[in-house]
Amino acid sequence: MSEIFQKRGDISVETAHIFPIIKKWLYSEKDIFLREIVSNAQDAVTKHKRLVSLGQAEDKDISYRLTVSVNQTAGTLSVTDNGIGMTEDELLRYLGNIALSGALEFIQKYEGDNPEDNKNGIIGHFGLGFYSAFMVADTVEVISKSYTDAPAVRWVCRADGAYELYPAEKDEQGTTVVMHINQDESTYLEATKIRDMLDKYCAFMPTEIYFENECTDEAENKETENNTPAPINDTFPLWQKSPSECTPEEYKDFYRKVFRDFREPLFWIHINADYPLNFKGILYFPRLNNQYESIEGQVKLYYNQVFVADNVGEVIPDYLLMLRGVLDCPQLPLNVSRSYLQNNTYVAKVSAHIVKKVADKLNSLCDNEREVYEGVWDSIRPFVEYACMRDRKFYDRAKDAVLLHLTDGRYVTIPKYLEEVKEKQENTVFYTTDKELQARYISLFDAQGIPVAITEQLIDTQFLQMLESYDSTVQYRRIDADIAAALTAENGDTSEIEEITALFRKVSGKEDLDVKYHTLKDTSLPAMLTVSEESRRMEEMMRMYAMQSGGQTPDFPISYTLLVNNACPLISRLSALNETDPTKAELIAGQIYRLSVLSQRKLTAEELKEFLTESFGLLSML
Ligand code: ADP
Repeated sequence: MSEIFQKRGDISVETAHIFPIIKKWLYSEKDIFLREIVSNAQDAVTKHKRLVSLGQAEDKDISYRLTVSVNQTAGTLSVTDNGIGMTEDELLRYLGNIALSGALEFIQKYEGDNPEDNKNGIIGHFGLGFYSAFMVADTVEVISKSYTDAPAVRWVCRADGAYELYPAEKDEQGTTVVMHINQDESTYLEATKIRDMLDKYCAFMPTEIYFENECTDEAENKETENNTPAPINDTFPLWQKSPSECTPEEYKDFYRKVFRDFREPLFWIHINADYPLNFKGILYFPRLNNQYESIEGQVKLYYNQVFVADNVGEVIPDYLLMLRGVLDCPQLPLNVSRSYLQNNTYVAKVSAHIVKKVADKLNSLCDNEREVYEGVWDSIRPFVEYACMRDRKFYDRAKDAVLLHLTDGRYVTIPKYLEEVKEKQENTVFYTTDKELQARYISLFDAQGIPVAITEQLIDTQFLQMLESYDSTVQYRRIDADIAAALTAENGDTSEIEEITALFRKVSGKEDLDVKYHTLKDTSLPAMLTVSEESRRMEEMMRMYAMQSGGQTPDFPISYTLLVNNACPLISRLSALNETDPTKAELIAGQIYRLSVLSQRKLTAEELKEFLTESFGLLSML
């Protein structure tokens, strides 16, 4: 059948100039064109539904659907909808005019004057989305039949902006956009590529989307068990449901599908913010295999169920981007720019609301589901500590849900810990950074009934420092820091035994070794090494900076003190032996010194050598 040519035109001089700009610059990511075209198709359905609900269009009980089809032989990628459609006039007005957005006009007409008041989910606002098709196509054909009686039309537009209009034969209402893919962009004819793009951008669009590869045998397009085509999308994603209607299984399932992580999430937060914020979302705390696994979150931003971007740091504070989740903000435009988001008060409010919700969830778990909370605490602890360090407001909200994991296996809040140790040492939290290495010290604290908190990761100690800076009345001391009062006997003997000091200085090879005398309650321990909290922290900080900057670790002096226990019988015997058998006394002092070092840190190669020689020397005396 020969076509009856009807009209020729040019998209206007200005628009012809705009075309190349759109092609190159409008979208940094080319794949977005498909999102734009499918979004327009979705809008067309939404608009028709709206007209039906207003009684302005006949209710034909349409089963709405969108179809994306690819045809390698013809070199086309098409998107079809059975929505509102366009008359010839509308088509020329909406698509022949880049800056005029039909969507905006529609909203103004039917939704009141405020286009921001976008409750009914019209996606397009800009009047530009359609043209993104020219990033990948030489020619775009639009075949449309309005829901009214107006005849169908076919509009063919080339990448230079020139278009032609023909009458078309189409009975069903709706629009098909046929993109004749440019030879250089032939990846957009690959079925797997298109499927991936649909999965990324359209997995939760509200109208069923079917995908067809016109050049394969039909069976391949049928994805369900009963051999009928299945929609590629979930039209009613979990975040749209009311939290009270969702089961834990559904949350876990959704997590598995969206993040392809087969480990169960630790827990989740379903946000359903009404007016004026009007956004929904689900945030998951992911389960990590071990502390070394990098914490890589992913928060996906949607606009009326259309994917916009991953990890939008402006909408959710960056420290919460370690979480995984989905957020649907229908009040943000689909094409968001970073600068727009940064200066938007609505975005700031959304972000603040998310922070509040996360903190509320931690508090409610801590107060009401303590067992569950303790079970996940070690895993979520780095998230919580990091968030507290990054944002004082978050800390203020979440501080009561911060737990200390004790060496006796219990989890307690900081106020509870302080309450427990009050009698023995006021306002001090004792911690260990290495349960194994510092086991001897832990046993001293255990013997006095003082609980010790485990802080084995770098972030834990940084967190403690932050706590101290927020509340200087509470001190945090590692268990090998300056001797805790609770470990020493009341009115204990602290007098120095000069010859013992000299002996230890000699065997340690450190003439200026700091030696102090105390009377420990534990009389079996002749001596122990303590490390000043301040100098150790300084050293740790320098080491961290060096690690971050890739430089050499500076040689920072840590102040160690050898604490000699006057209450230990071995010390009095050593004192006597020093008079009668100085060689033997030296060997024993060497052993005591090196064993003290050994229970505080690993020996250096030199120290180990000496330790072995001394030990064998001592054995040979037996
Ligand atoms: P917008 O940002 O408004 O979606 P587009 O350039 O993508 O801008 O589209 C311009 C207008 O063309 C739309 O607002 C709509 O009125 C019309 N349009 C585009 N695609 C369709 C379609 N599939 N069905 C009906 N109308 C459409």
